[in-house]
Amino acid sequence: MMNLTILGATGSIGVSALDVVARHPDRYKVVALSGHTRIELLAEQCHQFNPAYAVTGSATAAQQLTHLLSAGGSNTQVLYGANALAHIASLSEVDAVMAAIVGAAGLMPTLAAVSAGKRVLLANKEALVMAGDIFMAEVRQSGACLLPIDSEHNAIFQSMPAGYAGDFSPAGISRILLTASGGPFRDIKIEALSSVTPAQAVAHPKWVMGRKISVDSATMMNKGLEVIEAHWLFNAPADRIEVVIHPQSVIHSLVEYADGSVLAQLGNPDMRTPIAHALAWPQRIDSGVQKLDLFAIGQLTFERPDLARFPCLGLAYQALRAGGNAPAVLNAANEVAVSAFLAGHLPFLKIAAVIAEALEVVPHSAVTTIDMVMAADHQGRVAAKRALPAYVQ
Ligand code: NAD
Ligand code: MG
Repeated sequence: MMNLTILGATGSIGVSALDVVARHPDRYKVVALSGHTRIELLAEQCHQFNPAYAVTGSATAAQQLTHLLSAGGSNTQVLYGANALAHIASLSEVDAVMAAIVGAAGLMPTLAAVSAGKRVLLANKEALVMAGDIFMAEVRQSGACLLPIDSEHNAIFQSMPAGYAGDFSPAGISRILLTASGGPFRDIKIEALSSVTPAQAVAHPKWVMGRKISVDSATMMNKGLEVIEAHWLFNAPADRIEVVIHPQSVIHSLVEYADGSVLAQLGNPDMRTPIAHALAWPQRIDSGVQKLDLFAIGQLTFERPDLARFPCLGLAYQALRAGGNAPAVLNAANEVAVSAFLAGHLPFLKIAAVIAEALEVVPHSAVTTIDMVMAADHQGRVAAKRALPAYVQ
């Protein structure tokens, strides 16, 4: 029996994870859940899975949850705040932690799970983007088992040599080919991008996801963040990670070897596959995902990304190459710009401009501690907020 904490249980990944868990009550027990909003959903999840702990973001939300749970005679202890998240991520009785909080808010609890040496199922890519060096050093030191949930990185992991330990070239690996759907705006005229709405941006053609990652997919910043994520997870140099647009989203990524072999993982675009893979690894379990029907799909196609259309992808490569505080600044500025776009204040095409300005304004520096990462995050947010007024509608 594997005891689980799910951070971000009420989000898109959290809900998919609980769907897989519910199929295997003999294998998984939910010990703790967290949710920041959608407290009614968190209450339903508590009723279904009866966790020992549930964590919310505020005292008010905790009160609301306690009230909702009191009707059902629940044993769940309700806690709130950042310390409570770190607590449920490092409980001694917990074996595995699903890190599915969105954005920088996920960094500290995910790192707590890593430091406690847990099996960490990593969906929260922003944590690695912000603090990759420190994060991976902590994984090595604690002996945590880090398994990627992001579909591309899970595919790369599955296509890597067994027991791959970060020795990219000696293992005979020549390149990582990171696939991208191209998002909802791959084909529309560049001029039309200036007037796209939040509703259009979050309507992804292949994946159903949270709002922030959906906008990131539309700008292709998501792929940029994933390039940085792949760099840290697989110790891959930036120039060995190539982005390939593959609109069908069937091949989830590929690994190219010195002998010309290219290994890939395929499947329907449903996050329950990578979630089930990481939950059961090295075994395999049913995920509830429909079998891939190649005859129905018919064709798989590939294109080069257009950096003029998707400047955020170029900015992410730039930040990765710059290193130090740049990826944390990139991530923070992106979070500010995306929420301004979602609130209807910032035009879609100005998201990249705000991020570029933040990268330019914040002085470059090395980061060797988590406090320095948090300072870079803060500086990135301040710089992006200062840049916003010049672009708002
Ligand atoms: P989502 O917005 O649907 O859910 C986010 C979760 O985090 C919710 O439970 C929410 O309550 C919680 N949360 C939000 N703000 C918080 C805060 N300040 N403090 C604590 N908790 C907070 O997002 P999602 O689509 O499920 O994505 C979660 C993470 O997984 C992201 O990092 C995303 O990049 C990554 N990811 C998602 C997908 C996908 O298909 N959805 C695929 C790959 C990677
Ligand atoms: Mg992905």
